[in-house]
Parts: sequence; structure tokens; C-alpha cells
Amino acid sequence: MGDPCDHHHHEGPPDAAEVERALAAADARLSAEGERMTAARLRVLGLLLAAGEPVKAYDLIARFGEDGRPAKPPTVYRALEFLERKGLAHRIASISAYVACNVETGEAGSLHAAAFLICDCCGATEEVSAPAAGGLDSAAEHAGYVIARTTIEAHGRCPACRVAV
Ligand SMILES: [Zn+2]
Ligand SMILES: [Zn+2]
Ligand SMILES: [Zn+2]
Repeated sequence: MGDPCDHHHHEGPPDAAEVERALAAADARLSAEGERMTAARLRVLGLLLAAGEPVKAYDLIARFGEDGRPAKPPTVYRALEFLERKGLAHRIASISAYVACNVETGEAGSLHAAAFLICDCCGATEEVSAPAAGGLDSAAEHAGYVIARTTIEAHGRCPACRVAV
């Protein structure tokens, strides 16, 4: 997403080997669940993993084609919807972007409440385990709701931007 500030920053995107490992792990998990990793799903997840940061849907559409041609938007949106449902990616509504889940495969299972710490200065995001999710579950149960997806978005400043102020 680019850094609007010049504060000192975090690690860059993961290397190709890490992306390959994460894709293989996701593929294995989906097979174990009887789901299929289609070429489009694999490509979108690969783009998210390689970015190592939240990506806007239109950037995914633009980068989709290996030959440089953009994808048909529904192809990307359907893949994103699937990846989100399987807990492999998350949509961060407040910045209208998608990010690959960074919770270790297998640990969290398909569905987990995602919590994001979002830096309003540089745009860095970090997924952390959601401490409030348990309370939300019981509140939903009392209200008769079934939760399909929970994403908590906390805005503030990352360590690099905090000290730079
Ligand atoms: Zn996650
Ligand atoms: Zn920051
Ligand atoms: Zn900053």
C-alpha cells in the first residue's frame, strides 16, 4: 500500500520460498477438508502472501495475470470470498483491503476471529489473536445469533511510528 511516512520500517515481504511453503500448507489443509485449491484461488492467495501487507482488490485484479493481463473482477472476488471463508485471508473493512492470514496453518482451523492492529501513520498491519472473541461468542449466543466471521480492527500507531512522533 506504500508508506505515506518515512518512519523506519518492518521487514519487507516474505521471500519466494516462504510464499511457496505457505501455499503448499494451505493446499494441504484444503485437501484435508475436502476442498479444492483452484488455480484462481492459488493465484490470489499467492499474490496476498507475496505482498506481505494488505492489498486492495483492484490491485489483485491488475496483478492477477501471469502475462500481465488483468483478471475478470468476479474471478478475483470469488477467490477472495472463498479464501476468507476458509480463514486463509481476511478483509480489513476500514482500509478496504485484503490480507493473507498469518496464523499458523492448522493451529486456528478454518474459522477464527481475526484482530488487526493497524497503523494510521504508515499503514502497517499486524494480525494478533483476538482476546475479545470468546466474550463476543457468548454475547451472540445470548442474542440468538450465529457468528460466521469476526474481524476486529484497532487503529493507532505501530512501534516505528510511535517513537518517530
Ligand atoms: Zn487469520
Ligand atoms: Zn507505522
Ligand atoms: Zn509513520
